[in-house]
Amino acid sequence: MAYVEVYPKRIYQNALFLRNSCAEKNIEVVGVTKVTCGDPHVAEKILESGIKIIGESRLENIKRLKSAGIDAKFMLLRPPEHEMVQEALSLAHYFLVSDLKVLANFIDVNRAEEKGFIYMIDTGDLREGVWYSEALPELLEAYRIAGKELIGIGTNLGCYGGVKATPEKFILLKELSENFKKATGVELQILSTGNTASLPLVEQGVVPQGINQFRLGESIICGTDVTNNRNVPGTRQDSFILYGEIIELKRKPSIPEGEIGQDAFGRKPHFEDRGIRLRAILDLGEQDVLPSGLTPLIKGAEVLHASSDHLIVDLTEVSQTLKVGEYLPFRMSYGALLRTMTSHYIRKEYIYAL
Ligand SMILES: *Cc1c(COP(=O)(O)O)cnc(C)c1O
Repeated sequence: MAYVEVYPKRIYQNALFLRNSCAEKNIEVVGVTKVTCGDPHVAEKILESGIKIIGESRLENIKRLKSAGIDAKFMLLRPPEHEMVQEALSLAHYFLVSDLKVLANFIDVNRAEEKGFIYMIDTGDLREGVWYSEALPELLEAYRIAGKELIGIGTNLGCYGGVKATPEKFILLKELSENFKKATGVELQILSTGNTASLPLVEQGVVPQGINQFRLGESIICGTDVTNNRNVPGTRQDSFILYGEIIELKRKPSIPEGEIGQDAFGRKPHFEDRGIRLRAILDLGEQDVLPSGLTPLIKGAEVLHASSDHLIVDLTEVSQTLKVGEYLPFRMSYGALLRTMTSHYIRKEYIYAL
C-alpha cells in the first residue's frame, strides 16, 4: 500500500540552518507547517531548532498540533471564517488580518488575554492585503480598532501572482510603517515579509534594515523554492519520500485506440507514438498526489498521467526488472506533498534514525 516516509531529522536540519541564517540578519523565523496539515512530528523538529512561532492557515491543524502536545505560540496565517473567530482566539496568539471587519470581529470578543494582529499589505502579488498605495488610511483605521494589539504589518509574495521578492517591495512596507509612525507616534514592532520566495534576499544580504520576520514553510519542509524554481542553498530536499505499489505491469501501445474525448478530469490528453511501452499502474491517483509534481527516484521511470486512483508510470527505460507488488519511490514538489499529506489513504511512516 502506498505510503510516505517522513524524515523529521532532516526537517530539523533545514529549520536550524534557515533560523540561523535569518537570525544573522535580525530576522525571526515563523515555521509554517500547513503543507503537512499540522503534523506534530514536523512541528516538534521545527521548534527544536529554536524557532518559537508555528504558522498555520487552518484551525483544524492548530488543534491537531495542540492536542499532540505541541507547545508553541501559533500564528494564524489566514483569517478565520466569521463563526470561528472565538475559536481562533482560543487557539492562536498572532493573526494575519487584511480586512477591517474581520479585525473588528476579533476585537469585539470579550477576552482577557492580549493578542497580536499583523495587518497585511498587498505589494503586488494580488493575494491578501490592502493595496500598498492605499494602505495608510486603512492601517490607521485598523489601529483605531485594535489599538496596541496592532503589532505589525506584513506582506506575502510569490503565491498568487508568482511575484518575486525584491528589496523595493520590502521598502514599501518600511515606508508605510514610517508614515504610520508619523501619523500616530507609534512604532510597529513587526515587519513580516518573506515566505520562502524571499530567501534570495537573505542570501544576498539585501533585506532592508527593519524587516524582522519571515514566515517559512516550503524551504524548511521541502528545501525548495518553487517561485524561483530552485533548491534553497544549505537545505536538503529528501525529508519526504513517497512510495507507490505496482498493481499492474503490462506492455501496451503509447496511443489509446478509439475516438478521443476528455479524460476523467475534463482534460484533453496528449499522446505521442513511442511504440509499445512497459507501463505500471501504481496505487496512487489525483486524490493523493499532484502527478506533475512527482519525480521518480528510479532512473528511467517517467510519470505519464493519473486518474483519481490510478497513476500510470512508463518503466520501459528502467534497467532493473520490476514486478507487481514492488514499490517505486518518488520525490515530491510542494504541491504533490500537500496532497499526499492531506490524503487519508497514504500511510505516514516516521523515520527518526536518519
Ligand atoms: C503559506 C504561507 C507562508 C509560507 O510560505 P512558504 O512559501 O511555504 O514559505 C507564509 N505566509 C503566509 C501568509 C502563508 O499563507
